[in-house]
Amino acid sequence: MEKRELNDDEKYMKEAIKQARKAYKIGESPIGCVIVYQNKIIARGYNRRNIDKTTLGHAEITAIRKASKVIGDWRLEDCTIYVTLEPCQMCAGAIVQARIPRVVIGAMNPKAGCAGSVLNLLEIPQFNHQCDVERGVLADECSGLMSSFFRELREQKKNK
Ligand SMILES: [Zn+2]
Repeated sequence: MEKRELNDDEKYMKEAIKQARKAYKIGESPIGCVIVYQNKIIARGYNRRNIDKTTLGHAEITAIRKASKVIGDWRLEDCTIYVTLEPCQMCAGAIVQARIPRVVIGAMNPKAGCAGSVLNLLEIPQFNHQCDVERGVLADECSGLMSSFFRELREQKKNK
C-alpha cells in the first residue's frame, strides 16, 4: 500500500499526540494540545490535573495561557487549536472565550465532551463566537492512547 503523506491537520495532530504521550508518561490521562498561528506551533499543553492538583490543569487551558502570552492578547483570533480528545465544558468555554476560530479534534468523548457529544458549546448560535470544528482527525491513534492508558491502569489496580 502506498503511504499517504499527512495533511496539515494530521501533522499538527501528531504534535498534539506527542503532548498526550507526555501526560501518559507521568500517569495522567493522555490528552494533548497544540495551538497553531501562521503555520507555526506557538503553544503546547498536556494534561497535568493530578500532578498539579488543579482542575485548571487541562491541556487546552495550559496551551491557551501560553498562546496568549506569545500573541500578547487574550484573543487568539487567527489561531487553530488541535486537541487529541473532545474538549470538556471548561475547555470548550475557554476556546469560545478566546475567540479561537478553528478547533481540530482527534477522538470524541461521548461521556464528557462538549464539542458535540454531551453538549456543543463551540457552535451555539446565540453566543458571540462560534468555531469551525473538524472532528475525527487521527481519531484511532488518539483514542488508542486513551484505551491503552486505562487498560494499564486497570491492570495495575488488579495486581495490587
Ligand atoms: Zn478540559
